Amino acid sequence: NITDKNENYIFDVPLDFQPNENGLGRLFFRNMRRYEHSIAQYIVETGEEETYGTVLKRSIRTASHIQSRNLAKGDIIVICSYNQKYAVVPFIASIFLAIPVASLDPALSLLDISHLMKEVRPKMLFIVPEVVELIEDSLQEAGVEAEIVIFGKTEKHTEFSTFLEPLEDEEDFTPRPIDTLSDTAVILFSSGTTGLPKGIMISHRSLLIQSHILLKSNNLGAVTLSYATLYWISSIVFLVGILQSGGAKVIHAKFDPIKIWHLIEQYRVSTLFLAPSMAISMIKAGRPDNINTTSLWCFLIGGASIQQKYLLDLRENLPGTFVFQGYGQTEVAGILSFFNTSKVKETLFLHYKPKSVGLIVPGTKYRVVELETGRNCGPNQQGELRVKSNSLMNGYYNKDSSETYDEDGWLRTGDIVYYDEDMCFYIVDRIKELLKFRSFHVPPAMLEQIISAHPAVAQVVVIGVPDEEDGDHPMALIILNEQSNGNVGENEIRDYVEERVPDRLRLRGGVKFLNSFPLTPSGKISRKDLRNLVMKGEI
Ligand code: AMP
Repeated sequence: NITDKNENYIFDVPLDFQPNENGLGRLFFRNMRRYEHSIAQYIVETGEEETYGTVLKRSIRTASHIQSRNLAKGDIIVICSYNQKYAVVPFIASIFLAIPVASLDPALSLLDISHLMKEVRPKMLFIVPEVVELIEDSLQEAGVEAEIVIFGKTEKHTEFSTFLEPLEDEEDFTPRPIDTLSDTAVILFSSGTTGLPKGIMISHRSLLIQSHILLKSNNLGAVTLSYATLYWISSIVFLVGILQSGGAKVIHAKFDPIKIWHLIEQYRVSTLFLAPSMAISMIKAGRPDNINTTSLWCFLIGGASIQQKYLLDLRENLPGTFVFQGYGQTEVAGILSFFNTSKVKETLFLHYKPKSVGLIVPGTKYRVVELETGRNCGPNQQGELRVKSNSLMNGYYNKDSSETYDEDGWLRTGDIVYYDEDMCFYIVDRIKELLKFRSFHVPPAMLEQIISAHPAVAQVVVIGVPDEEDGDHPMALIILNEQSNGNVGENEIRDYVEERVPDRLRLRGGVKFLNSFPLTPSGKISRKDLRNLVMKGEI
């Protein structure tokens, strides 16, 4: 019980680890050679098995071809791919060349991707054939010219296969040195505490620290299955961890709630990482009879909250597996809390606190701040989690990130949490604007921009209505302008939005019309009061 001894209610566990100064590129290179004959990837769709040696060879060739394009320092490479056998290759190649990679998910829409293209203005893109039009349109809308490389056939752009052609001097290849461990390795997207999505710059140091935490926790086994694409920090941290441990990854593009049970058995999966909505659909589909899941040591669920009943169901259906939640954030390059299964004997009973998102991890300082007073909260008191971390982001790409920190330099997570006497953390609420629909980002600012362009709308605020399975359902609260004469109804607004946004941004939470919005003492619209009124049924 740490809380008894800590009157300041600031917590940290020292990080006993010095990241290697050479950064990720050298580390990947060394380990991929070391594990040359071990399986790196199992490709579910084709049944192929690929060794580290094969992936290394492809990555070296791709790096050499990228090098021939003479990208300048500071140029950015974008990857937009679902999980498939080549997705990781330009990622590793870019890391070899010390060029930052920004990753997109093919499930994003033109609206999302055009915005992100404007943010990072890439020089080169590696994309799956399904998104060619989307990427072309988004580049045009952003006014960006770049080479597009397709994982497949193309007449108009460059085929990825040309990047895999043998090169004479490939045996001599060595990764390009980084300047310092603070160099940005990847740029991932999230909207922070407010506004539109921003590129979050993550350094070599941060990824080395976070993957070290994962490796030390025993939550990374020999075979990992996760559906997160390279767009998500979780997939990057897992990848960096796997590349160090010499483990294998099961590559499967499309999640299927029944097939996943069989994949665990077939590939003897030892670590499974899923978003709550996938974990829920897996339990709803039901465990097939006569399958063997004894290989599965750790099943980590994260990215959004999961109801206790589903977690308990999963535990019941996976005897012998540690099924628990983890909590993280892109701004800290990964994990903020989870349970450490290497300390099973000491903490076994803690693993069975199904509502908790786990214990603090080394290298991060934590305090929970009571918002009204600014005081640090003791056990069982709710407040905003603020952290100082060794794996903190370098900042938002081309944006000021000062608002993310409080006056004493603590990162505002935007999450309302508490911890109990055993230092297990619980997430209660989110005070930042960000919503998550099935763990996917829903930035209210993006919806507000669209809705405020409707000719009848004077003001709009989008908030989240909690949903047991989906996380948040976006709801629009609208003040109509005088010209509208109040002649606009919920359906018109819903239809207007549906025509302009991807599925995840639809106003599933509904539309409400108001005459005024509650204001904060400084005169800003109070989202918190609005949400409380909606939750109490008063709006
Ligand atoms: P992002 O880094 O943009 O993907 O989102 C990070 C945010 O997701 C956190 O600040 C939380 O609001 C939310 N989140 C992540 N993991 C959990 C969890 N296990 N339970 C509840 N919310 C979570």
